[in-house]
Amino acid sequence: MIENSEFDFENRIVSPEPIRQDVEDDIERSLRPKLLDEYIGQTKAKENMKVYIEAAKKRGEVLDHVLLYGPPGLGKTTLSEIIAHEMGVNCRKTNGSAIQKPGDLAALLTNLQEGDVLFIDEIHRLSRAIEEILYPAMEDYALDIIVGKGPAARSIRLDLNKFTLIGATTRAGQLTAALRDRFGVISRLELYSEDELCDIIMRSSVILGIPCDKDGAKELASRSRGTPRIANRFLRRARDYADVIGSGKLTKDMVDIALNRMEVDKLGLDELDRRLLRMMIVSYNGGPVGLDTLAAAIGEDPVTIEDVCEPYLMQLGFISRTKGGRCATDLAYKHLGMTRDGQMSF
Ligand code: ADP
Repeated sequence: MIENSEFDFENRIVSPEPIRQDVEDDIERSLRPKLLDEYIGQTKAKENMKVYIEAAKKRGEVLDHVLLYGPPGLGKTTLSEIIAHEMGVNCRKTNGSAIQKPGDLAALLTNLQEGDVLFIDEIHRLSRAIEEILYPAMEDYALDIIVGKGPAARSIRLDLNKFTLIGATTRAGQLTAALRDRFGVISRLELYSEDELCDIIMRSSVILGIPCDKDGAKELASRSRGTPRIANRFLRRARDYADVIGSGKLTKDMVDIALNRMEVDKLGLDELDRRLLRMMIVSYNGGPVGLDTLAAAIGEDPVTIEDVCEPYLMQLGFISRTKGGRCATDLAYKHLGMTRDGQMSF
C-alpha cells in the first residue's frame, strides 16, 4: 500500500532541519547564543568544552579537533560558533557535500589563520579521497600536494597554520575509524528536556519581542520534540496565530490552538509521524518491518525517516528496533487510539 497526499514533506513544521521559513528571514541566526554561558542545556558537553577551551587558552595552544554528533537542530553549528568566539578566532563554515575536489579542501585550509575554526557540517559526506587529505592536515597541520603526473609526479608538503577542525554529523556510525580517531574531543548532543526547551523559548521570545507567558512556553516546549530549532520555529508561527486570532500574547490556550491548527499533536507528532505509525500498525501488523519497505510505503526517503522521525519516536518509546525491522510499541497503539486486535480504543 502506498499513501500519497499533498503533504509538503520538505517543509514539515516539525522538521529539525532548516526549512524555507527559517532560512528566508534569517531570524534563526539572531537567536543563536554567542557565549557558552548563554548556551542552554547539554551540560556535559558544555562543561567539558569549557575546560578544554580554558586549558588551550592558558597554554596558548590551538584547541584540539572536535567531533559533535547527534540529530539535526540540537545546536551543533551554534556550539561551533561559540567555541570560535570563546577562543577569539574566526569560524569558517562549510558542508561535507560541498567539498568535492581536493582543491576545494586545500583552498579552505590554506585560507585559515592561526587558531581558526574550520566547521564541516555533515562531515560523514566527505569522500575517501578528501578524507585522506584531511589526515595530515589534522595531525601535522600540513598539506601533501602531488605535482606532475606519471613517473615524474612528486609530493610536496605545504605547512598550514594551526587550526581546529570541528566536524558535525547526524551519523557518527558512518565515519571511518581513521577519521574518528583523529578527533581529540568527541561529544554527543542529546535531545533537550522540556525545562531546557522552555528556557530557550523564553530567551527567544525576549529577543524577538514576542509576549509569551510561562505556561505558553511550557506548552510549546512539550511539543517541540526535544529540538531547539523546532521550538524556535513554533514560537514564531504561534505568534502569527496570536496576532491574528488572539490577543497577541502566547498563553497555553493560544499555543494549543495554534499547534492544533498546524496539525502538531500534544506530543509534537505531525502527519508524517502518524502516517508512519499507522502504516506499521495497519499494513504490517505492528511490525517488524524493514526501513526501506516502510519508506517506500509512505513515499519518504529512508534517511529522513531514520534521522528525523525515528530518534524522537524512539525516545517516546513508540518504536523499537529489532533484528527483523521496526516495531510499533503498545504506547504507539495507545497514542493513535488503536488496539492490537484492530479496534479503536477510546
Ligand atoms: P544543528 O547545527 O545541530 O542542526 P543549530 O546549531 O543550527 O543546530 O541550532 C538550531 C537553532 O537552535 C539555532 O538557531 C539556535 O537558535 C537554537 N539553539 C540550538 N541550541 C541551542 C541552545 N543550547 N541554547 C539556545 N538556543 C539553541
